[in-house]
Amino acid sequence: MKANHKQITPHYDVAILGYGPTGATLAHLLSLHGLNVLVLDKEKEMYPLPRAVHFDDETMRIFQTIGIANQLCKMLHINPGMKFVNKQGRLLLDWPRPQVLSSQGWNASYRFHQPDLERILRGSLQAKPNVTILTGCQVTDVSQSSENVIVHFIDKDNDQAQVITAEYVVGCDGANSLVRKQFDSDLEDLGFRQKWLVVDLLLKEDMPQLGDHSVQFCDPKRPMTYCRNPKNRRRWEIATIEGETDEDILKPERIWNLLSKWITPLQADIERKAIYTFRSVIAKRWVYGRLLIAGDAAHLTPPFMGQGMCAGVRDAANLAWKLALCVKNHVGHEILQSYAQERIPHVKAYISKAVILGELIYSEDPLSMLSAVNDEGTGQAKMKSISPLLGDADFFSSFAPFSKFRGQLLGQPVFRNGLRMDDLYGYRAVLISRNQLEFDKSAVLAPEFENSILLLLDKLDTYAVLLRPDHYILATAKDANETKELCDLVSHTFGDGFVKQ
Ligand SMILES: Cc1cc2nc3c(=O)[nH]c(=O)nc-3n(C[C@H](O)[C@H](O)[C@H](O)COP(=O)(O)OP(=O)(O)OC[C@H]3O[C@@H](n4cnc5c(N)ncnc54)[C@H](O)[C@@H]3O)c2cc1C
Repeated sequence: MKANHKQITPHYDVAILGYGPTGATLAHLLSLHGLNVLVLDKEKEMYPLPRAVHFDDETMRIFQTIGIANQLCKMLHINPGMKFVNKQGRLLLDWPRPQVLSSQGWNASYRFHQPDLERILRGSLQAKPNVTILTGCQVTDVSQSSENVIVHFIDKDNDQAQVITAEYVVGCDGANSLVRKQFDSDLEDLGFRQKWLVVDLLLKEDMPQLGDHSVQFCDPKRPMTYCRNPKNRRRWEIATIEGETDEDILKPERIWNLLSKWITPLQADIERKAIYTFRSVIAKRWVYGRLLIAGDAAHLTPPFMGQGMCAGVRDAANLAWKLALCVKNHVGHEILQSYAQERIPHVKAYISKAVILGELIYSEDPLSMLSAVNDEGTGQAKMKSISPLLGDADFFSSFAPFSKFRGQLLGQPVFRNGLRMDDLYGYRAVLISRNQLEFDKSAVLAPEFENSILLLLDKLDTYAVLLRPDHYILATAKDANETKELCDLVSHTFGDGFVKQ
């Protein structure tokens, strides 16, 4: 049985290949803009075991935008941070994550069970009339003309070959992406490649002694990671060493031996064990005419910052509103190049940092490496989260006169009644200005919200902020005159598309 029962139509606005977290998030966001979307996945059922175990506040904000944050909240564990310790257990580096709400209006770091998230993402898509989901359908070929993209797939239920067309195709089809292969895109390799064993355990009893922090055990002979996941789930990631075969390290007796310092089979069951090769690569090209890639299809990171899936979710948020503008003919598809130009430097900042952490974890002399990650400059070995800017994009170059804070993520106030700013604005462009010049009058603020929003403008020391649907700043204006000029530029660039998405 298909994931939903809608009739297939011959043509879609956007076809998404891959129903993982990136593809599902993208489908949600496109549907918010009323696009007609087809999602295809070769697997009949959702992958039942977790890979990702952590996501951040920006990712949660995107989940808020698509309306699943409250449901998800009940299944999360708020992460107090990560500690890096040496072979003797001495603290080398602390990466505390505040327990209060961050500037994004959510907690900085959450632990989760990936199947819970995917179930929620998928469950809420089923009800969307403009999204059709076909699972058990393997895409075998995509080819494009100037008019559209032709997608060939095999329905595995009956081995029947089928064809549809779409204005655009986005390959959210994972590390071995078929769509990326069409691009002939080289991968930039940032240099980390190591094979690790991942073991998920289900505790049979409370074990508070394991602690709530994630721990990186920096032992060059055998680095390991401990993750405190929700409820009774705990994970250890264990580096394999030279000469060790997969078969050997996957044996339960070998696993329990490696974990014997912390836990025994009397205290937990192994839920799953798998070997992954952690890599650090970014596709050099993400857009090729009407074909695009996102998520693991476009980049892979070692998991030490817990950012692989987060990056895919950010890709979706950056891309969906631009695709909507193209499909509705408000702008030409040059805007799609901005997706790659903005996202590549951003994701590269995260992957580069994860690579440095990987080097620290493997280092014979970790103390000598601390200055590379100790960005507080306090003399204490403390690390802060990074918030990279989006890369500069040619498409937005005319906004240069208004470029203060361009490419920065705007904060999200939480109002006294519990509502958050994005609950008012949704996945739309908004002009937030001191004289209430919002583009969309439905977003005009009730007085009880005004103070928090004015505080945001005060913090930036600006008169108006032009916010993109993905919550990044496109432009700021320093007074009412500049605000008027900015509005004219927006109309010139997007027609009324930016306003009326
Ligand atoms: C051990 C480990 C720990 C991790 N920890 C974290 C973490 O803590 N935080 C974090 O943010 N990230 C983490 N990640 C990374 C994260 O799991 C991935 O980045 C994320 O799952 C990728 O999602 P995706 O939707 O881009 O791709 P995928 O989840 O790989 O989905 C791709 C989909 O495409 C489908 N597909 C492929 N080819 C075709 C085809 N030809 N036709 C139709 N369908 C196709 C597949 O069936 C699949 O469903 C971790 C990864 C690993 C391995």
